[in-house]
Amino acid sequence: MEFTSDDARAHFDAVRDVLDGAVVGLDFDGTLSPMVDDPEAARLHPGAPGAMLELAEAVRAVAVITGRPARQAIAMGDLDALGNAMLDRGAELFVLGQYGNERWSATEQRIRSPRPPAGLASFERELPSVLRKAGAADAYVEEKGLAVAVHTRRMQDPAGALQRLTGPLSELAERHHLTLEPGRNVIEVRSGQMHKGHALRAFVAEQEATGVVFGGDDLGDVEAFEAVRALRADGLPGLVVCSASTEQPSLVELADVVVDGPAGVVELLTALVARGPAPAG
Ligand SMILES: [Mg+2]
Repeated sequence: MEFTSDDARAHFDAVRDVLDGAVVGLDFDGTLSPMVDDPEAARLHPGAPGAMLELAEAVRAVAVITGRPARQAIAMGDLDALGNAMLDRGAELFVLGQYGNERWSATEQRIRSPRPPAGLASFERELPSVLRKAGAADAYVEEKGLAVAVHTRRMQDPAGALQRLTGPLSELAERHHLTLEPGRNVIEVRSGQMHKGHALRAFVAEQEATGVVFGGDDLGDVEAFEAVRALRADGLPGLVVCSASTEQPSLVELADVVVDGPAGVVELLTALVARGPAPAG
């Protein structure tokens, strides 16, 4: 893992000083689970459950904050079992799904979610013809309840297809007052009311956190990165962790620590909890 500056190392130390009152938000894909070609085959990095369990004991609360529906992240990450293990140790796990629109906790064991955003149903009705016109009729459309994701990952030219789709989809989204969220070989369309930055800020406030850590790897994490930096400017110790990928170098500029994918995230979480001086790097 690599600190991006001396200040960044100081932020790491500042968070560790208030760790027992801090909250930790972690993205799922590419941060806790290695990227795979089939999004449905994503699983936690083998070191993640152990590291999260140790972490949960040391902090106020841990939340997985993801664009995926909560139900899906819970199933893929076996987060039910992890949450129960945390409860056994007096700690709590939250899953904030669909960018914070859905909320699950190990204690409550049920997902709370609002109604789908207005405009989503009509967007979905018009989507097939827009895909056809953009030469992307075989794109995989994932209905997420509160959002729709158009995946090009399994197409012949994923990057080219994504490029062809961006214009037409943003036009269609705009017409229905929805927001476009580009990712790796995927475009998500959802209500503009919610993003990971809002979700993280609300979580910090609700937990009365004395510090905040967020780790992410993709464009959908930018608002959460910015939220940590804004909270820090207001005096709350905070640390931004970028799970590095070759695809999204722009996130590195906002990060304090850059780690090597989910394996590096596990290492970072372990270092946060470990006693003794901060690791070199
Ligand atoms: Mg991700």
